[in-house]
Amino acid sequence: MTDTDVKTQHSPGPWKAMPSSDRTEWWIDSQDGEDLALIYELPNAEANARLIAAAPELLERLREHVLHSPGICGDNCPSCGRDNKDFGGICDAEDCIGVMDRAAIAKTTTC
Ligand SMILES: [Zn+2]
Repeated sequence: MTDTDVKTQHSPGPWKAMPSSDRTEWWIDSQDGEDLALIYELPNAEANARLIAAAPELLERLREHVLHSPGICGDNCPSCGRDNKDFGGICDAEDCIGVMDRAAIAKTTTC
């Protein structure tokens, strides 16, 4: 099993960013209308709310990107092109986009 196979654990998306009547606070609602979070009055409240509300879609796009990236081909990492034959074909370079993508996905799951 890879990190892209991990079952979704969060409330199903899409989520919506819904402003309070005076638009100072923002609710994050699930697709079922369940209140998931409240973004308090801060200078960037709307932008923060919209980013959080987009999280399920962003996660899904990232998973799709990783899933459809070319697999290990030859001795080179398909994401960064490094020679991986000394590492068993699995890239672990901190600046590899494939490694960073998988690390970002792992941050969204619980153990
Ligand atoms: Zn790599």
